[in-house]
Amino acid sequence: MKGYSIWHPCTQMKDHEKYPLIKIVRGKGIYLYDDKGKKYIDAISSWWVNLFGHSNERLNNALKQQVEKLEHVIFANFVHEPALELTDRLLKIAPKPLSKVFFADNGSSAVEVAMKMSFGYFKNKGELRNRFVYLDSGYHGETLGALSVCGEELYSDMYKEIMINNIRVKGPDCFRCPYGKDRDSCDAECFEFMEQALLRHKNEVCAVLIEPIVQCAGGFKIYSPKYLKKLRSLTKELGIHLIADEIAVGFGRTGKMFACEHADITPDFMSLSKGLTGGYLPLSVVLTTEEVYDAYYDDYTSLKAFLHSHSYTGNPLACAVAVEVLKMFEEENVLEKNKAKGDYLRERVMEVFADYRFCGEVRSKGFITAVELVKNRGNKEPFDWKKRIGFQIYRKAIEKGALLRNLGDIIYFMPPYVIEFDEIDRLVDIAISATVEVLGE
Ligand SMILES: *Cc1c(COP(=O)(O)O)cnc(C)c1O
Repeated sequence: MKGYSIWHPCTQMKDHEKYPLIKIVRGKGIYLYDDKGKKYIDAISSWWVNLFGHSNERLNNALKQQVEKLEHVIFANFVHEPALELTDRLLKIAPKPLSKVFFADNGSSAVEVAMKMSFGYFKNKGELRNRFVYLDSGYHGETLGALSVCGEELYSDMYKEIMINNIRVKGPDCFRCPYGKDRDSCDAECFEFMEQALLRHKNEVCAVLIEPIVQCAGGFKIYSPKYLKKLRSLTKELGIHLIADEIAVGFGRTGKMFACEHADITPDFMSLSKGLTGGYLPLSVVLTTEEVYDAYYDDYTSLKAFLHSHSYTGNPLACAVAVEVLKMFEEENVLEKNKAKGDYLRERVMEVFADYRFCGEVRSKGFITAVELVKNRGNKEPFDWKKRIGFQIYRKAIEKGALLRNLGDIIYFMPPYVIEFDEIDRLVDIAISATVEVLGE
C-alpha cells in the first residue's frame, strides 16, 4: 500500500512520502496547534473560510445554542428560525434588487445552482441557450458544471473531454498588461475580448461568470472595477445574466462587504459561501432577483419549478453560525476596523518584499495581499513551474510556524480578520525569511 488511507484534496499524494501530514488537534484565534504542540499562524484562513479566528467564542456559543434546539431538518416544505433570520440579514446587506435566497451547502454547488437557474430561466421563457462565458483565470469550483467554467487549466485539463462546451474569454491581466496600462488608471481596454465574445454568441449565452475584483485561485489577479461596469452594462443591454461569484471575495475580504460594491453593480446572481459561516460549517447561498424567481413560478404541473436539492441544504447549525457572523459584522464595526490592518499588511509585505530581484509584484485589495515571484523581474518571466518554488517556500514557512500555502509561485496573505499588528509583523518575517532561504538574497 502506498501512503495513507485518506486521499487528500488538491494534493499529489506522493508528496507525502517526503512530507508527513500534520495532525492538527486544536485552533484558537489565528493559530493552529499540532499534536506535538507546535503552533502555526493560519495565514490563509484555512482556505479562505475563516474570518474571526478559530474557536471563536461568539460563534461557538451560537453553535452550542442551536445544537440544543435543532440540528437539522429537511428544507423542502419546512423552514426554521436560523434560515429565516439569515435570509433577512443577507437581503439587508446585499446589492438591490437581489431579493431571493436559495440555499445549498458548498461553493461549487452554489455556482451550479446559479448556472442551472440561469439556463432554466431562459428555457422556461421558451428560449434555448446552452452556453456560459467565463474568464481564462476564473475559478468557480471543481464539480463538473463549475469546472466547465474554470479558466485555470490546472484544474480542468484532466477532464476537458467531459466538460460542457462553454466559452472561454481572455480576461484582465494587470501585472502583464498587454496594453501597457496601469490597473488603477486604465480604461479596462481588455474588455474588448469579452465584448467580441458576447456580441458573437449573444443568442446562445445564458450568463457570464466572474469573480468580482479579485480572481483568487486563478492567481490573485486584481483588476479594475471599470471592467465590471462595462460587463454589467453590456450584459444588461444584450439580456445576458451576470453571475458574480463572491464565494472567496465576499464578506469583507476586499474591503467592502461584497466586491461588486467596488464597481457599484448588481449581478443577476450572487453566489456566497466560504466566509459565510466564518469557517465553521459548509453552507452556501445564491441570491437572485424577483424576475428570475418569477420565471419558475407556476402550477406544479407546468414543470417549471427549480428542482435542485442537497441533503444538507439550509442546515440550521450552519445558518445559526452564519447569522452570528453577520451580527458580528453589524455590531463590531468589522469593515472599518479591518481597514487599518489590511493596509498595514500590504505596507509590511511591500516594505519587506518589494526590493528583491524575485519580487515581480506585490498586489493587494482590502485584506488580501499577494506576492508574485518571478525569475526575471525585468521581463516578468516566471519560474519553471516544475521547480515548485512557491511550494518550497510553503514548506519552509511551515517549519517556521506559518501555514502560508502557496498558489503556484504566488505567496499570499489572507489571514483571519482578528490578526493583530504584531502578528502581521511575525507572519511577514516568516514569509520573507522562508522565501530568501529558497531563492537566495
Ligand atoms: C472556493 C471557491 C469556489 C468553490 O467553493 P467550494 O466550497 O470549495 O466548492 C467557487 N468559487 C470561488 C471563487 C472560490 O474561491
